[in-house]
Amino acid sequence: MPKLRQWLSDLADLLQPRFCPVCGNRLAGNDSFICAACSTQWPRLPLERYDDNLIVRAMWASVPVTYGASLIVYRHESPFHELLTEIKYRGGTMLAHELGRWAVRELQGSEMLAAADMLVPVPLSRRKLMERGYNQALMIAQGMAEQSGLPVCEILSRHDRLKNQASLGADERRDNAEDIYEAHIAEADRGKHILLVDDVMTTGATLIACTRALLKADPTAEVSVFTVAHS
Ligand SMILES: [Zn+2]
Repeated sequence: MPKLRQWLSDLADLLQPRFCPVCGNRLAGNDSFICAACSTQWPRLPLERYDDNLIVRAMWASVPVTYGASLIVYRHESPFHELLTEIKYRGGTMLAHELGRWAVRELQGSEMLAAADMLVPVPLSRRKLMERGYNQALMIAQGMAEQSGLPVCEILSRHDRLKNQASLGADERRDNAEDIYEAHIAEADRGKHILLVDDVMTTGATLIACTRALLKADPTAEVSVFTVAHS
């Protein structure tokens, strides 16, 4: 059986070659989604603990979150940057799934994953979703769900932006960001530990606005945050 499986995998590889999204080299049959060489070079974000680190501290000034984690350091000049570009703009939905599965393997045994009751992806506005065709955060969350068994709950929605962010000051920008997210939490889902999922965390403004919306809809909920990358 393993021989047959290997043969089928070789055949699939021959018919539809896969390429490493980081370095562009052709993937071998037993490579998962990035090549073996690149997988030894993940620019990992070193986090010693999940309940006190740069992710949760960035959130704490505005909202209470329990745990926070991110796996890769996002830098524009890094070839790993391509991974995120691929899943955000080039239809890399399979890749987003794979990243989600990989993320759960990396987080296995963490208190954050153990505490979570559900995965909630950061939503896109309807307009963005129409443009892009998919929500990369949802794809990552679905990959995480496959690997962890946790349910994905799309309880957040995002309205189209009312004002152009660029023309606003920092305070107005924050208020503007807050109005655009809304959460609907069913009675049966109240008091749960929500793991909010997104692709990249930059200032944390999006995650903060989403956490606010979640806690507004259910003050008894607990929220933790996970992003694949941190910039
Ligand atoms: Zn590679």
